[in-house]
Amino acid sequence: MKPIAVTIRFHEELNDFLPRHEPGQAIAVTWHGRRTVKDLIESLGVPHVEIDIIQIHGTTVGLDYLVRDQDDIDVHPGFHITRPPRFVIDDNVAKLVPLLRMLGFDTLYAQGATDSWIATISKQEGRTIVSRDKGLLKRKEVHSGLYVRSTRPPEQLREVVERLQLREFCQPFTRCLSCNGILLSLDADEAAVNPQIPPGVRTWTNEFFQCNGCHKVFWKGSHHQSMERLVHQILRHP
Ligand SMILES: [Zn+2]
Repeated sequence: MKPIAVTIRFHEELNDFLPRHEPGQAIAVTWHGRRTVKDLIESLGVPHVEIDIIQIHGTTVGLDYLVRDQDDIDVHPGFHITRPPRFVIDDNVAKLVPLLRMLGFDTLYAQGATDSWIATISKQEGRTIVSRDKGLLKRKEVHSGLYVRSTRPPEQLREVVERLQLREFCQPFTRCLSCNGILLSLDADEAAVNPQIPPGVRTWTNEFFQCNGCHKVFWKGSHHQSMERLVHQILRHP
């Protein structure tokens, strides 16, 4: 049986997945047998969730395209996420959970969950998986996903916001960092009798919020200022 030989080029940040290749440089690949372009791309280390357009000799094809001998393939980066975005966060980037909620995003934490469960919830609820596990992001049933390059949480947050172009969707301090519920203003009458608010706090603020999920009450304490600084840094245009 004649082998299939193709050339393939990955564009822009997709080259982060390829060691020893310059961006846009053609890679020659040869094999025997039928193979989809998704399988070929992922065998080179690039998860399909970061791909926008695949072109063969300039014609756009889908992930299930069966590759033919002498195909010349260009792969361009991009994301197909739900707007407004919804997330499911893998254990390996768990510190992103409160940070994304801080920006107001519907963020599910897949604590201790299997890859299969995460992929399924991604599909069922249109959630974008954020992970540092390429194997998880290669699963066919995944709705959308992002492989985070950075290992530092504030930098990871900046990366998610910039790469998925989330600035216009941010609604800082509208969501509970603990449970993903929505924060609602607590009116003065309710605040006056709420046992969660220490009397000392009432002397310097009358602005309180209550989570509609866990019913915890929040106010803008000293911790809030450092979060505001971080939000300002993230949302500031580079
Ligand atoms: Zn809550």
